[in-house]
Amino acid sequence: MCENNKIIKLNNLEFSYESTEEGQSGRKALDGVTLEIEKGSFVAVLGSNGSGKSTLAKHLNALLLPTGGSAIVCGMDTLDPEKTWDIRMNCGMVFQNPDNQLVSSIVEDDVAFGPENLGIEPSEIRRRVDEALSAVGMYEHRKKGPHLLSGGQKQRIAIAGVIAMAPECIVFDEPTAMLDPSGRREILEIIKKLHKEGKTVILITHFMEEAAAADRVIVMDKGRVAFDEPPAKLFALGSKLEEMHLELPFAAVLRSELEKQGVEVPESIIDEEGLAEFLCR
Ligand code: ADP
Ligand code: MG
Repeated sequence: MCENNKIIKLNNLEFSYESTEEGQSGRKALDGVTLEIEKGSFVAVLGSNGSGKSTLAKHLNALLLPTGGSAIVCGMDTLDPEKTWDIRMNCGMVFQNPDNQLVSSIVEDDVAFGPENLGIEPSEIRRRVDEALSAVGMYEHRKKGPHLLSGGQKQRIAIAGVIAMAPECIVFDEPTAMLDPSGRREILEIIKKLHKEGKTVILITHFMEEAAAADRVIVMDKGRVAFDEPPAKLFALGSKLEEMHLELPFAAVLRSELEKQGVEVPESIIDEEGLAEFLCR
């Protein structure tokens, strides 16, 4: 359990791929990121391609280690090699491509993989696997081969695998990028539910509509934090979003067109549903 109220503390975090074998790009992928994330919060991370979102995510469970500054997760410094395991137990990751995350030929074995590696006893593993599969609505598919599932279903299995490890915090790195709209909606509903149940959720996405579900939005630009406010503030920025290399979501375009026509829309309304309700009142 993480007793720390600030589950994540990044202090002037820097990372350069140059210091690793693969890296050749001329600039730092993270260039002085300082932020804290409260336990139980739902934070969305936006930013154009190459802005540093995935690099940031990988620092939250010690998949990458800072080349400057520090990353503290549940009070543990990711640079301390003795804490790597504990950090990974506290902070789970879900990636973009579900095919790269599934390791077994049967759904329930896949979900059991993480807890088995934690050395948890079999009856408890059984309980966790069933609970995690139910949580993502995949219990009835537990005996299937993952290859028989849709992309959205596979992603739900990957999420169940993380839930079964019972982490405090789950980082989703563009989990819906490869899914169709219905798959996207399913995953977003699961993410919202996990947050409601008390998990700390960090959702990296390029869908502004998904960011609207969060209680805080961080925009990354060239390895730095360009914006860090509630989503309503972001959507009210209008064309300034383009300076951060972000596109306006449909709801924000519609809102600004309405305002041009003299209709004043309250700042708290940030999605299509809210706008439709407002217009029909
Ligand atoms: P995002 O997830 O926002 O698209 P990334 O964190 O993947 O951004 O990348 C940030 C920067 O780091 C980019 O300039 C990218 O080209 C560079 N980068 C990412 N991964 C590697 C790598 N394995 N080797 C070298 N440079 C990388
Ligand atoms: Mg990325």
